[in-house]
Amino acid sequence: MLEIKNLHVKLEEEDKQILKGVDLTVEAGKVHAIMGPNGSGKSTLSYVLSGRDGYEVTEGSATLMGEDILDMEVEERAAAGLFLAFQYPVEIPGVGNMTFLRTAVNAQRKARGQEEMSAAEFLKVIREKAKSLKIDAEMLKRPVNVGFSGGEKKRNEILQMAMLEPKMCILDETDSGLDVDAMKLVADGVNALRDEGRAFLVITHYQRLLDHIKPDVVHIMANGRIIKTGGPELALEVENHGYADLLAEEV
Ligand code: ADP
Ligand code: MG
Ligand code: MG
Repeated sequence: MLEIKNLHVKLEEEDKQILKGVDLTVEAGKVHAIMGPNGSGKSTLSYVLSGRDGYEVTEGSATLMGEDILDMEVEERAAAGLFLAFQYPVEIPGVGNMTFLRTAVNAQRKARGQEEMSAAEFLKVIREKAKSLKIDAEMLKRPVNVGFSGGEKKRNEILQMAMLEPKMCILDETDSGLDVDAMKLVADGVNALRDEGRAFLVITHYQRLLDHIKPDVVHIMANGRIIKTGGPELALEVENHGYADLLAEEV
């Protein structure tokens, strides 16, 4: 699904190398987690994959189902099936959630050469998805994220993900403010959307999230590289011993 090879990334504005040779293969149907100390480059990896400005790829490649994504525009990446949770503006006063989601879905459909969804069709689909994810349809009428609680924002992100039907979902849970309930929401959403044809890359600083989303593979990132890959037990090792041992091993 996603294949990253020897990816080197620096800041555009500064001569600062952040990713120093990341290798990562995520197979369809799998959930991979990336953990690692603060500042190791986890968010940078997700930003570069999503096409955010400010980063320069100096070496290496990233392909989604065989297609080079690094050369694509942001909308092309979405059309190709990439979804980065939390990539959307936090609050959009004056724009109803439903309108916003329909615009996003139709932009993606257009880029894929599909016909736009009519308002009626969209309403039907979103109601079904909201129901299956146990999301209150009331939320759909409110302006995007305005006055949403932390939990509601998470629900909304999961709904965005469900509506866009991505192939490769990247979730960067940098948010240390995630309480246990919000974390469970994210996990339930991911678990509900787990599918043979879909893969997840869950980036988290905290082991707790992985109690609820059982990853198939866990990677540890430090200093711009993946320094260790293992099964779910690796997350427990981090929980119990922190990163110090792993970092020492690397040197
Ligand atoms: P993580 O998500 O693992 O905490 P980040 O990807 O956020 O790590 O950051 C990796 C390193 O790159 C940090 O040292 C951070 O300060 C630096 N960095 C990332 N983006 C920028 C930026 N736009 N400007 C300056 N430094 C940045
Ligand atoms: Mg950080
Ligand atoms: Mg981060």
